[in-house]
Amino acid sequence: MSVRKSAPPLKLADYYMGRDRLHRRELTRELRANARETLRRVNRLLRKAGLSRRISSGWRPAAINAAVPGAAPGSKHLSCQAVDLEDRDGRLDAWCMANLAVLEELQLWLEHPDATPGWCHLQILPPRSGRRVFHP
Ligand SMILES: [Zn+2]
Repeated sequence: MSVRKSAPPLKLADYYMGRDRLHRRELTRELRANARETLRRVNRLLRKAGLSRRISSGWRPAAINAAVPGAAPGSKHLSCQAVDLEDRDGRLDAWCMANLAVLEELQLWLEHPDATPGWCHLQILPPRSGRRVFHP
């Protein structure tokens, strides 16, 4: 995979995954503001990392989250404060682990790569433990 510094930023449409139409009432102004903030921080991270990644899971309305195997009932995906990025080669996870100061600067928290094989989970709120890198 090549490094593309000018990769296009992730867009809200990528984050909503079409669910903003079927679950419009659930997508409040607050959630929309959260989604914008999540993408703002994650796009800055990807730019700094020089990596391009697709969203594998963005916003999860309640019914969808309940159907995701292993998804936490209080998942930050419900409130548009978390995103999963495809990361098959693990390079983004590895970059994050090697650049925790950048995560701190951008106020992002990472689910431990051991728990996310093939993807990278980032969120804009600290987990209960407060750890920058956490186990779910
Ligand atoms: Zn996730």
